[in-house]
Amino acid sequence: MKNIMFIAPPAAGKGTQAELVVEKYGIPHISTGDILREISKEDSEIGKYVQETLASGKLVKDDITYQLVEDRLGKKDCKNGFIIDGFPRNIDQAYEYDKILKNLGYDIGHVIYINVDKKVLEKRITGRRICEDCNTIYNINDKDNSPEIESVCDNCGGKLYQRSDDNLEAFDTRYQMYMEKTEPIIKHYREQNVLVEIDGNDTVENIFKKIDKIINE
Ligand code: AMP
Repeated sequence: MKNIMFIAPPAAGKGTQAELVVEKYGIPHISTGDILREISKEDSEIGKYVQETLASGKLVKDDITYQLVEDRLGKKDCKNGFIIDGFPRNIDQAYEYDKILKNLGYDIGHVIYINVDKKVLEKRITGRRICEDCNTIYNINDKDNSPEIESVCDNCGGKLYQRSDDNLEAFDTRYQMYMEKTEPIIKHYREQNVLVEIDGNDTVENIFKKIDKIINE
């Protein structure tokens, strides 16, 4: 099993696809955001710093991020493949990632770029609703994915809410930052001939079929 990296804009469904890969192939999903959220709970100087940085929305210092990625990828369960998510976030991190992989004797594997049109993302962002009790995600702009009753969870009857950053203005900022920082990463991996681009203007099932095909090639 090759290692997998997803590159995708906000609201492209990267998290959902990562979970489907984990379910089918049993490889670990390494999310730097998740690891940092755990560290932020620690009662230490680093814990406090990470907690404050996460709350501000800024990036955590490189030396902390690099160390945690290297430590996590060095664990036994990554030997047979893993999905990395949230890293690299800019070109400097991509260069560092190449070094970390080399140190650990790993290949880059599949870099899967899920390309989604901005208009489609906007529709997903404004339609996303989440259950406050069981976290099920719906989309009221997608008839295959909308709840029976608009503000009520089909699964548990909980109330559905909209994330505070799921509005067009906040999305525009997140999208622009993504484009600016990610274009050089895409170019970097394209030049190494490891990048595969898939059309993400599709259903969750169809996107997963495309990813699955790449994994099995
Ligand atoms: P995420 O869950 O990927 O949206 O990440 C949540 C937060 O964790 C980000 O806003 C950053 O503060 C931090 N973070 C996650 N990944 C990285 C990274 N590769 N480099 C620096 N900070 C990161």
